[in-house]
Amino acid sequence: MKFLINGELIDKSDHFDVINPYNGELVDTVPIGYRSDADDAIESANNARRALNDLSAKEVSIKLFDACEELERESEDIAKLIVAEAGKPYKQAIVELQRSVETLQFAAEEAKRIYGESVPIDATGSVDARFFAFTKKVPLGVVGAITPFNYPVNLALHKIAPAIAAKNTVVMKPSMEAPLAALRLAEIINNHFPDGVINSVTGYGSEVGDAMVVSTGINKISFTGSVATGLFISSRSGMKKLTLELGGNDPLVVLEDADVEKAVSAATSGAFLFSGQVCIGVKRIILDNKIADEFIDLFAKEASKLKMGNPMDESTDIGPVINESAAIHIETAVNSAIEDGAELILGGNRKDCFYEPTILDNVNMTMDLVANETFGPVAPIIRVDGLDEAIKVANDTQYGLQAGVFTESIRSALRCANEIDAGSVLINKESTFRTDAMPFGGFKSSGMGKEGIKYAVEDMCKTKLIAFNCK
Ligand code: NAD
Repeated sequence: MKFLINGELIDKSDHFDVINPYNGELVDTVPIGYRSDADDAIESANNARRALNDLSAKEVSIKLFDACEELERESEDIAKLIVAEAGKPYKQAIVELQRSVETLQFAAEEAKRIYGESVPIDATGSVDARFFAFTKKVPLGVVGAITPFNYPVNLALHKIAPAIAAKNTVVMKPSMEAPLAALRLAEIINNHFPDGVINSVTGYGSEVGDAMVVSTGINKISFTGSVATGLFISSRSGMKKLTLELGGNDPLVVLEDADVEKAVSAATSGAFLFSGQVCIGVKRIILDNKIADEFIDLFAKEASKLKMGNPMDESTDIGPVINESAAIHIETAVNSAIEDGAELILGGNRKDCFYEPTILDNVNMTMDLVANETFGPVAPIIRVDGLDEAIKVANDTQYGLQAGVFTESIRSALRCANEIDAGSVLINKESTFRTDAMPFGGFKSSGMGKEGIKYAVEDMCKTKLIAFNCK
């Protein structure tokens, strides 16, 4: 596939192979862009600002709805592209596409709801009642969207769709591991807007991504990816707005009075969705000792029913992870936890890019497996005695994306909701839950700023005050 600048598909002499992690076959190649390509894309986006701003809010909304219809028509093909490039099981890829359609719909609706407000500027003694003022929300200009491999379409849309709804033009850089579906998405958006409103460039993060981050032609970087890259970006971005959606290490807290069956089913879907390669995946299961044995028995039974295999097969639950080095990283973290005293309950084996759904008991927070984000199909169990210790362990991490808590006690639920330091605390639900309209974004090292269309639109506008002296 090619990337897109000013409505033209661009090829380069150097290419990157996109490999299917399931069978090692070549899916396609993408051009390796350089700094000069990022600069061309930024220039094209700046040149298109006028054409986008000349459209009425209603016209922008209609065009977003039109793009949404085309995306819906193409959903199956794009889902299959995600399966091939990222190894995501088809049934999960098609859900990503359904959500993506909804994300675009939310943005098409939000394009018509961007309000300023009247300002009582005569509240001061220095002017009289004939002085009045109001604010207007104006676009920032150009938004740079840098995205990861795991939700290549929906996470790109969480940047592109609100940016365009607020009349910003966009330069998008998808992940090198899974660029194909995102490139196709950019083509679809481009079919409905003036050339240059959306541009895409593939290339290395340190080259194309960095060129975007340091450019004075970009007014905001909206980044989703790892903490290390997010920190690096924030040190290089200068005076531009920044949204950082970073890694997570989300706890699932199961207290002594929890409905254990419901908690087990939440743990099974939360820890193993897309082989654990989900920022809001359940990455630590914090169990009260009183229900731990019952929970672990049931959990091992449920997890062993998950079907591992060809991700294109509609019945597959667990596909490969993104590449072999990611699988080796997971294997190393699990083996080192076992050497340090964790007990293997289920799984623990790797074959090429596949890693089995794995459950480990007696994990503690000093183990690398839980001190850092493992990003694999691993469910580490940390046993605790009572609510105070559960909250303490839940907070014993540099991350704070989301948290799930299972309890039937309103007092315990409220204490967790108030005391767990995370962007969302979900009671009787696993952390692996997001709707595309809700405010979403982590605390601590999990990032800054909120996504969710309404919130992203707010952050992709600036406020201008206009005052009239009618004296
Ligand atoms: P990554 O940080 O390696 O890469 C993300 C993007 O950044 C890629 O497009 C990459 O090319 C680009 N990049 C790399 N170096 C760069 C640089 N110097 N300047 C600019 N751009 C650069 O992340 P990944 O491995 O693709 O994704 C997995 C990570 O993303 C996990 O940590 C996961 O938790 C996180 N994530 C977070 C959320 C969220 O919403 N909080 C959602 C999904 C994934």
